Amino acid sequence: MKPDLFESPDYYNIDDLLTDEHKLVRSAARDWVKREVSPIIEEAAQKAEFPKQIIGGLAEIGAFGPYIPEEYGGAGLDQIAYGLIMQEIERGDSGVRSTASVQSSLVMYPIYKFGSEEQRKKYLPKLASGEFMGCFGLTEPDHGSNPGGMVTNFKDAGDHYILNGAKMWISNSPFADIAVVWAKSEEGRIHGLIVERGMEGFSTPETHNKWSLRASATGELIFDNVKVPKENLLPNKSGLGAPLLCLDSARFGIAWGAIGAAMDCYDTALRYAKERQQFGKPIGAFQLQQKKLAEMITEITKAQLLAWRLGTLRNEGKATSAQISMAKRNNVDMALKVARDARQILGGMGITGEYSIMRHMMNLESVVTYEGTHDIHLLITGLDITGLNAFK
Ligand SMILES: Cc1cc2nc3c(=O)[nH]c(=O)nc-3n(C[C@H](O)[C@H](O)[C@H](O)COP(=O)(O)OP(=O)(O)OC[C@H]3O[C@@H](n4cnc5c(N)ncnc54)[C@H](O)[C@@H]3O)c2cc1C
Repeated sequence: MKPDLFESPDYYNIDDLLTDEHKLVRSAARDWVKREVSPIIEEAAQKAEFPKQIIGGLAEIGAFGPYIPEEYGGAGLDQIAYGLIMQEIERGDSGVRSTASVQSSLVMYPIYKFGSEEQRKKYLPKLASGEFMGCFGLTEPDHGSNPGGMVTNFKDAGDHYILNGAKMWISNSPFADIAVVWAKSEEGRIHGLIVERGMEGFSTPETHNKWSLRASATGELIFDNVKVPKENLLPNKSGLGAPLLCLDSARFGIAWGAIGAAMDCYDTALRYAKERQQFGKPIGAFQLQQKKLAEMITEITKAQLLAWRLGTLRNEGKATSAQISMAKRNNVDMALKVARDARQILGGMGITGEYSIMRHMMNLESVVTYEGTHDIHLLITGLDITGLNAFK
């Protein structure tokens, strides 16, 4: 793979809106991605292996629990700093960002928000340091966009629960030490349970043959009469709203992360367009290529502004789920379009692993589907503005 020459586009001087701390956090993440991710990620993706050696580095740049308070091992940062870390990591690879998102927003966040003090103390510092890796089990083979229909369930068996069912498409599952699993009680109410690797009847088979997010491990979670201690139930929130709050946090990170992937594609295509000569001049001198580049930077700039504003709303505790949906949907769609146009600018070279573009493009096909599909987020906006439910 070519050396990482990335230079971040900032067409509207959005840096002026950031604090010194934001810039410091971003530059630490950016330097780390250049040093530790860029040199190894193409090979990891080609081999379809999660590069476990980067776990320690992810913890060091604060990617595990950026906004979790320091007393629990988190970095204690604000939402914009969290977004910037996700942006920089996804600039390297969406699969690596997925690992960080799951750990932070889908495992640490529910334990922090809905867990007991004992659970927080037991799990959060280890998750923040990467000693423990976690996964989040919501999706089932027959319940994807409609997680409320889940059939995974647990029954009260005296001093423990008995958990049965299966989850599918679970990021990090093949190597996770713990899983935050959403399951129905005998009353049909959804609760979160912390399931630990090694519990009898719990297995995590890997999903193979993916063309997307190849550097991220994906798998199933299978529960065959798993005995879960009662103290592993998250006590402070139940109902579908609990996992949906986790998804709000993860979707916010994706809205920023997708910008990173788009920036990398744009920066690569711009450099290539200025260097590559055809018909006696750089291809960047042709109007058709300039149109693609000009539209890319316009869309990236709009997405940056959307993410920044959403970050300020989240810092004030005012961002709605529907606002987060809009940013996730818009920014991932934007990144996919940028990746496709950037790939064309590179011609044949665009399909090789010499450049990151094709990998980003393939990765984004998962990102546009997971954490609520492109269409589902549109329906969320539709419901929000009309008050009319078009889901069913
Ligand atoms: C690589 C990867 C990693 C993932 N990681 C995780 C994870 O860590 N944890 C986890 O719990 N899940 C995870 N997922 C699952 C992901 O969230 C689901 O794939 C997603 O929610 C969509 O569900 P589905 O694939 O079952 O599609 P379906 O729900 O079957 O949808 C299929 C199509 O139908 C459309 N559709 C569905 N309902 C409607 C409707 N009412 N109106 C109009 N159109 C509709 C959808 O938009 C989509 O286009 C992951 C998925 C992938 C691909």
